[in-house]
Amino acid sequence: MIVVMRGDVAPGSPAIAEVVREASRFPGIVTEVRSIQGAERSLTEVYLLGQTATVPKEPFEALATVERVVRIRQKYRSIGRHEGQAESVGFEYSGLHFGQDSFHVLAGLCAVDSRESTEAMFRALRDAGVTTTRAGAYKPRTSPYDFQGYGKACLPYVFELAGKYGIRLIAMEITHESHVDEIRAALEAAGKPTGVLLQIGTRNAQNFELLKVVGQQQEMPVLFKRGMGITLEESLNACEYIASGGNHKIIFGLRGMKTNLGDPHRNFVDFAMVPVVKRLTRLPVCIDPSHSVGSRVRAPDGLLDVHHVTAQGVIAGANMVLVDFHPAPDRALCDGPQAMLLPELRHFLRDVEIARRAYLDRVAAAREAAAQGVGT
Ligand code: PEP
Ligand code: MN
Repeated sequence: MIVVMRGDVAPGSPAIAEVVREASRFPGIVTEVRSIQGAERSLTEVYLLGQTATVPKEPFEALATVERVVRIRQKYRSIGRHEGQAESVGFEYSGLHFGQDSFHVLAGLCAVDSRESTEAMFRALRDAGVTTTRAGAYKPRTSPYDFQGYGKACLPYVFELAGKYGIRLIAMEITHESHVDEIRAALEAAGKPTGVLLQIGTRNAQNFELLKVVGQQQEMPVLFKRGMGITLEESLNACEYIASGGNHKIIFGLRGMKTNLGDPHRNFVDFAMVPVVKRLTRLPVCIDPSHSVGSRVRAPDGLLDVHHVTAQGVIAGANMVLVDFHPAPDRALCDGPQAMLLPELRHFLRDVEIARRAYLDRVAAAREAAAQGVGT
């Protein structure tokens, strides 16, 4: 059960203590207070956890500081959107806002393969006014003989260069719990010049022990990528493990689903699920067009398929785009064939901007129609 407080109630206030006290009258119920950065406002919610089915709403609804009381469905207790909850769960990190209303492009290297390519990438981002990127240090590869990433050895120069080029956020996949400590230690040694978004890759979507580890630390946010061969429901349940550990700074990532290789994309593009995930959960949703398409194929209209699928996800309301670029894709040690070139960055950003504007126009048109009573 969620007790939603009125807008002006802060987490540490006596009104919260009153709700917690009321909840303590019911045996076995524990409470958790959460600050929600909503699309339109911030608010405080008190989660009542345990067997709440027999806990009545009325004593909480009777409190003057309570706006409403929401019963949680059993499914996706923490990340789910429950009966009529309007606000998405947003959060602030590294000076940036993330929610179902925000929009960021994380363009960068699939894998860090040299100091030089990292510097060229970050310089291109700075020149294009972008402060968010991706840079893989730990790479889960299909073959044990493929490049596995430089691991912690590359972190010092990645973070030093992030500071030099004004990068505020780096999405970085981890494949083992020790990587969290390695990243934290390297960030501290570098003087915390940037933030890190811990990425759980599709291959680890059901690695529950790893999910618990990123859920139990609350410092860094997590980008959870859906499993490529499991149902959406299974992926959402796995994602719930992160939130159940106490970390609510989560972004849900769509990256395509497994089909036969080259059929015709590396993965079957699933960006029609952007609004679905936004409806089922209160999480911001990311799309990864590079790992979906997997190549630089171009449509007859002159646009790369990567551009086309990005636009499809963005026009459907995606909150983040994770996309591969490389200064010299033919020399990249990982996923070169799907990387765009640095001179293509500005055009990509422009194309994304067109799609985002179209999405915002569509939302405005929907609001207008609703105001006129259409579709209600
Ligand atoms: C990646 O983003 O580099 C990656 C390996 O993605 P995924 O887990 O979606 O395959
Ligand atoms: Mn990759």
